[in-house]
Amino acid sequence: MKPFLTFRANMRVNFLPMCKIVRTRPQTNGIMDIRFFATDTKPELTSVRYKVKRGPYGEVTSDHVDYFRKLMGSRALTDPDECDKYNVDWIKMVRGNSRVVLKPKTTEEVSNILKYCNEHRLAVCPQSGNTGLVGGSVPVFDEIIVSMQLMNNIISTDTLSGALVCEAGCVLEALDNHLEDVGLMIPLDLGAKGSCLIGGNIATNAGGLRLLRYGNLHNTVLGLEAVTADGTIVDCMNTLRKDNTGYHLKNLFIGSEGTLGIVTKVAINCPTRPKNINLAFLGLDNFDKALKTYALAKRELAEVLSSCEVMDDPTMGISVDKLGLQNPLSNRHKFYMLIETSGSTATHDEEKLTAFIEEAMNTELIVDGTLTSDPAKIKNMWAVRERVGEGCLLDGYCFKYDVSLPLPYFYDLIRALKERLDMSRVVRLSGFGHLGDANLHVVVATPQYDPEIEAQLEPFLFEYISEKKGSVSAEHGIGFKKIKYLGYSKHQSAIKLMCDIKKIMDPNSILNPYKVLPQ
Ligand code: FAD
Repeated sequence: MKPFLTFRANMRVNFLPMCKIVRTRPQTNGIMDIRFFATDTKPELTSVRYKVKRGPYGEVTSDHVDYFRKLMGSRALTDPDECDKYNVDWIKMVRGNSRVVLKPKTTEEVSNILKYCNEHRLAVCPQSGNTGLVGGSVPVFDEIIVSMQLMNNIISTDTLSGALVCEAGCVLEALDNHLEDVGLMIPLDLGAKGSCLIGGNIATNAGGLRLLRYGNLHNTVLGLEAVTADGTIVDCMNTLRKDNTGYHLKNLFIGSEGTLGIVTKVAINCPTRPKNINLAFLGLDNFDKALKTYALAKRELAEVLSSCEVMDDPTMGISVDKLGLQNPLSNRHKFYMLIETSGSTATHDEEKLTAFIEEAMNTELIVDGTLTSDPAKIKNMWAVRERVGEGCLLDGYCFKYDVSLPLPYFYDLIRALKERLDMSRVVRLSGFGHLGDANLHVVVATPQYDPEIEAQLEPFLFEYISEKKGSVSAEHGIGFKKIKYLGYSKHQSAIKLMCDIKKIMDPNSILNPYKVLPQ
């Protein structure tokens, strides 16, 4: 048994190496904590850089602080140094100036906080892992930050139905580690898994690497509990797959980015952990071949296909040159694809993968590749893709966009940007993403924040996407950064209904103001 195989064009694949995935529980300290990136340098204040006008909210007084101290003792942080890291987002694009961070441990505490803030017109910014990439998770001015980090209890795990019930502050990776012992998995995986919290994932309707297989959170979240602006605890908890009793209110909170309520508990449907995982890392000459390889993978791999990602060579440069990771292939190519299969019968997956690789090579879709079922090698190969987000920051300032585009136009956007941008001011222009979901991430790196490059990028990029019937946000949300462009992907009638819902649920607009909706 040989768990690692490298192939080149014109090579015949005679066998497919398979090995059982060894289940080892990762050390708790093995969980990647990427939050330190947010704290080492400070961006300009958001209100100054983007010239935002403060809303009609109360200012925090010593009476308010006394109330919070009485409610939660030392879990009400007011030391400016301690508050600082909660005010800067992960990508260092925005910075608020909050002087109060509250860390509730129970739903009742969240309820008391919001009831009080609503009565005193104090604005609130809910925060989980602070890995969001659209400036939604930090305040714009002095909004009180409600950090969900301490609500991190797992409540129950039903191994038969797969329903996991937990508090909203559980770290995504910690939940997956917990499920590993009982043969289940979290149906969501993303590069920020060691820091992001499940409540933050739900609030952003996060997508990630395996949406292709398991669908989005509207599909896998069975129920949730949330606290609305006036402190009402809304119980939409449910562990059933089927429940058609009226409006599906949980879906209102999924993707609402902290503007309609604070999610406090979650029930999520967790699939069986696959017994066999294989990962192919492929080198390709052009993007057209990447599209054809994806079509072939869908056809040949069908139900065992669990992920299909693409990266261009400048993206590989981030992983190899900036982060010092090893290119799984011995040569550089214009494009790379990661194709993962997950299944329960090794021989079945082997047959399918063999047929796929052989056809891809015979038809000259791929020029180079490597395939493994060794868990350690799979982890290393995934790191080349997953750590790109982290590596981007090492270039200087990073303009990062997350968009959906119909597949025929997917990479055309990068070509259009190459023509439009003053490339002498750009350190790197790269494109990568979830090809199987038609979701492209665009990275434009400059030595420091460059308003001229920003003006060349926006609104051009969003107009381009709108014209091609794409979406200005595939998975990261609207947050603070994309409000102006919401109308490029949503009809005015839909935006009006969103504003009406906001008025009903949060009439004083205390929850995450300056985010998602036009002011
Ligand atoms: P935060 O960033 O803290 O908050 C995000 C938003 O949700 C904010 O508006 C906040 O106010 C609100 N919010 C937070 N918690 C709650 C709550 N309990 N109730 C109500 N509102 C709340 N995203 C993807 O979709 N797919 C990816 O593949 C992906 N990869 C990433 C890779 C890296 C390296 C990084 C840094 C980010 C990536 N992201 C990705 C973006 C980000 O990780 C996700 O948006 C994630 O879901 C945010 O979770 P969080 O816990 O960090 O939430």
